Amino acid sequence: MALNEALVQSIVQEVVSRLETAPAAQQHGLFADMNEAIAAAKQADAVVRAMPIEQREKILTNIRRKTRENAEKLARMGVEETGMGNVPHKILKHQLLADKTPGTEDITTTAWSGDKGLTLIEMGPFGVIGAITPCTNPSETILCNAIGMIAAGNTVVFCPHPAAVKTSHFAINLVNEASLEAGGPDNVAVSIFKPTMEASGLMMKNKDIQLIAATGGPGVVTAVLSSGRRGIGAGAGNPPALVDETADLHKAAKDIVDGCTFDNNLPCIAEKEIVAVESVADELLYYMTTEQGCYAINEAQQAQLAQTVAPGGKLNRKCVGRDAKTLLGMIGVTAPEGTRCITFKGKKENPLIATELMMPILGIAVAKDFDDAVEQAVWLEHGNRHSAHIHSKNIDHITRYAKAIDTAILVKNAPSYAALGFGGEGFCTFTIASRTGEGLTSASTFTKRRRCVMSESLCIR
Ligand code: NAD
Repeated sequence: MALNEALVQSIVQEVVSRLETAPAAQQHGLFADMNEAIAAAKQADAVVRAMPIEQREKILTNIRRKTRENAEKLARMGVEETGMGNVPHKILKHQLLADKTPGTEDITTTAWSGDKGLTLIEMGPFGVIGAITPCTNPSETILCNAIGMIAAGNTVVFCPHPAAVKTSHFAINLVNEASLEAGGPDNVAVSIFKPTMEASGLMMKNKDIQLIAATGGPGVVTAVLSSGRRGIGAGAGNPPALVDETADLHKAAKDIVDGCTFDNNLPCIAEKEIVAVESVADELLYYMTTEQGCYAINEAQQAQLAQTVAPGGKLNRKCVGRDAKTLLGMIGVTAPEGTRCITFKGKKENPLIATELMMPILGIAVAKDFDDAVEQAVWLEHGNRHSAHIHSKNIDHITRYAKAIDTAILVKNAPSYAALGFGGEGFCTFTIASRTGEGLTSASTFTKRRRCVMSESLCIR
């Protein structure tokens, strides 16, 4: 056969494609085909179901330890592969999930006993859960989901974002190593070499998948909720931080900028814009720029930035999760050392304020009074019912805001990440079921309720 250019091209393409889909050395839980992956997870599930809860807990202990040991590596891999976020904050996120994601203690039993006997409601596993994960917190979501899902007695097939495959596969491998080292089965978490939308579609149709947890934007949540399977929808947010006239403005400026800039604004719960009442807006902006490393941009720069980060209203993926200095550099501004956030005052309809950008850009929409601020914040949250934040010392204001905005998360007088248990009470999760109402997910979210009745016995009252 003559070796012409077309033939060389096709050989090169074939080799590249094989290399792309070939398993990395000694990676557990990876398959060429989605149905094959699900079958392997089902086999592992039979072993997990038969296991004492104590052994499940040993697997979780190992996942936590491996997450801590690999926190820096996972953080670096995530940033390098996706180009988003920053390493120190991603390390903290991994440490947080290792320490504060609930395990088997989250699985509880409800009991009634009386003359007619004993009835229990137990939280049982679903079996193999399908989990679709984002590129913004790739390994964080996988490890956190794996802890909760395995704690509940399930195994899991992951459909990671194609832009974070390497990092996601590394995390899946850690989960299986953790299981094997605890005497558990391989394939408690599985995925495929090359995740695609088609493969996710196959997962959603597979009869062995009874529950799907989707963590991502509106498209994936709608797809899952239309699949005919039970779906947990952890969708998009656009959290406003409301600042009223009673707020401690120094603290509000610090908390809001700390929350907004965490991992370059990637967390779905992070402050995406501010709504401030008129009487405090300028002072807040002053503290943000003089004390908190915010760089104020003028109207022309706002237009330029909007055109760069969301041309034609469509998010420019190359800007998501980038730091403020890089974003400013893209519009020809050399920001001073220590710049960590971009700010300006503008109308709520400004695309830099109204859009969920996932970038350290904090526009301030000014409201004439508290009622107007609530109205604007509710509009800006776009009915996602995800997260909202408030800086106020007025309990009536806080209560009115909470009722009006109706979100899964409301943080008062703290950075948004307090909601994940970082500087706040409570457990950690990276899957916040905003659309379907479960709120912050944990092991118990990944169970089904089963009633177990013993008639006329076992009541010893
Ligand atoms: P994305 O929606 O682009 O992708 C998320 C996942 O869904 C990926 O695995 C992707 O491949 C898959 N996907 C997308 N559309 C799909 C479809 N139609 N069918 C099947 N699969 C599909 O989101 P992203 O950029 O990875 O993450 C950022 C978004 O996720 C933001 O909107 C953010 O608010 C949201 N998010 C929400 C939570 C939460 O807990 N509520 C957590 C993290 C991220």
